[in-house]
Amino acid sequence: MELKDKTLPGEPIQGNRTRAPLYAPNFFSSFGRPEPCTFCCSPPITGRRWKAIPGKQLAEEIIELKARFGFDMLRFQDANFGVAEKRTKELCQALVDLDADVWWNGTIEIETIMRYKDDLPEESKCHLLWLGAESGKAEMQERIGKNIGIDNIPIAYST
Ligand code: SF4
Repeated sequence: MELKDKTLPGEPIQGNRTRAPLYAPNFFSSFGRPEPCTFCCSPPITGRRWKAIPGKQLAEEIIELKARFGFDMLRFQDANFGVAEKRTKELCQALVDLDADVWWNGTIEIETIMRYKDDLPEESKCHLLWLGAESGKAEMQERIGKNIGIDNIPIAYST
C-alpha cells in the first residue's frame, strides 16, 4: 500500500535521528481469530472464535483516547486486525468522517488484504499493514493447516 502523504508526526531533531520519538501505544481491538495454524496456541485457546469492537465504536473510542492521552499513532496488536473487511471499512470511514487525525497500523492476513479494493485505510491514516502468511512454502502451509495460496503472497504485497 503506497501512502500519498508520507508525513508522519514528530518534530525533526538534531543528531543521527531525524525525528523525535513517536508516542505510539498498543491497542487490542479484538480477541481470537479464525485461523487453524497447528503450531499456534490461539486456535485451542480461542476455539477459533473472533470477537471485536465494532468499527464505528472503535473510531469513537480512539478519538476519546487521543483527547485524553494525546498520542501520535496507534498500534493495533490484534492477532489479525483485519479479519472482517466490513468492520475495517466502518472504522476507516468513521475515522475519516470524524477527522480523527490518528496514524495507525495493524496486522492482516495475505488473502484478506487481497479483498480490500479501495483506498479507505490510507485515507484514514493507516500507514502500515503487517502482512501475515506464516510460511512461503506450500508443503508447510499444508502441514500447519493454513493453506494460504503461495502464489497469492506476491500479489498481496503489490495490493
Ligand atoms: S494466523 Fe497467526 S495467530 Fe492466527 S492461528 Fe495462525 S499463527 Fe496463530
